[in-house]
Amino acid sequence: MDNSGPVGFFSIPKESYAYHPVHCLGRQFPEVEHSFRSPFERDRDRVVHSTAFRRLAKKTQVFPAPTNDHHRTRLTHTIEVAQICRVVSRNLGLEEDLAEAIALAHDLGHPPFGHAGEEELAECMSCEGGFEHNAHALRIVTKLEYRYPDFMGLNLTWEVREAFAHHSKKISEEIRHYRSKGGPFLEAQVADAVDSLAYDAHDVEDAITAGLVSLDDFLDVELVSETVREIRQSGKMANSRALVPTLIRKLIDTQVADLIAETTRKIRSAKVENLKDIRARQDLLVGNSQSLTEKITQLEKFLRERVYFHYRVQRMATRGRRILKRLFDEFCRVPKLLPGRYQGRLEAEGLKRVICDYLAGMTDQFAISEYQKLFDPGESV
Ligand code: MG
Repeated sequence: MDNSGPVGFFSIPKESYAYHPVHCLGRQFPEVEHSFRSPFERDRDRVVHSTAFRRLAKKTQVFPAPTNDHHRTRLTHTIEVAQICRVVSRNLGLEEDLAEAIALAHDLGHPPFGHAGEEELAECMSCEGGFEHNAHALRIVTKLEYRYPDFMGLNLTWEVREAFAHHSKKISEEIRHYRSKGGPFLEAQVADAVDSLAYDAHDVEDAITAGLVSLDDFLDVELVSETVREIRQSGKMANSRALVPTLIRKLIDTQVADLIAETTRKIRSAKVENLKDIRARQDLLVGNSQSLTEKITQLEKFLRERVYFHYRVQRMATRGRRILKRLFDEFCRVPKLLPGRYQGRLEAEGLKRVICDYLAGMTDQFAISEYQKLFDPGESV
């Protein structure tokens, strides 16, 4: 029996600049706090039980569902982000529950067909305030989910809503409102950093298993080649099926270790002592070291050129965009084709925003099935 396991890892004390629940700025509609869950634990649970969260299972991350059964969907990506977020937050002495709630919610606003779907909806809505997945996630958690008798949305704490605003690339009045408390707190910064760390690593595995790029091709990337060299030097694994999973595990581990070390260094040199000090800063304290950032940039460039722009990925993206565009135009032309629940919101929200909400909420498969129902004469409606 192995008795040499680590002792004491699980009692890392919270730092004074962690976002303790006592600082929570509350909910949109006041509620009595729960007797045995903190406000942030409660947010996490509300997100996990939401309809939008379950739909992530059938939304494209990079590779749509028909590619194979093993690549990441938005749901499995989200679970990986949440899991890594907990590790990073715990080791930095931050508020794990808040970081986890933000991580679980971070992709709720994504439409079907990945980034291509987001670009198409942004184009369809260009004269109507646009479309951006973080802003849309705010709509979902404040207006669109209907699970509670007393309010629409999930009535999440200010902090989880604010995190969407910090990650948004498009600045609207609402986003400005949510950014009014100062710079992003560290738990939101962790969720953002871990999101890209996770997809950079898992897209390598998915690209290889989908047959878009070989492991040999990836050896052009310094971070990959030095990690593979390290694994092979262990002598066990030259042709093992575990080589690629081991590579992904080490890519994550290297980035997480560097993220924790570099962030700790930055926090110390910035001499922050409390949440107010964090809020007062314009720059981010959570991030990788300069040398690793350069290697990650090279990996991301490779992923963009060889994977995201791969003709098979582009075909799927273009097809997804066409489906959304034709659905959008058809619902604009004949609003009576919309389900009754959406028709009931037309007066309050306007036709295009309602159509956009309907399309953005769809899973890939549901969008394809709606397309067939509207345009394939042999399909039942
Ligand atoms: Mg993400």
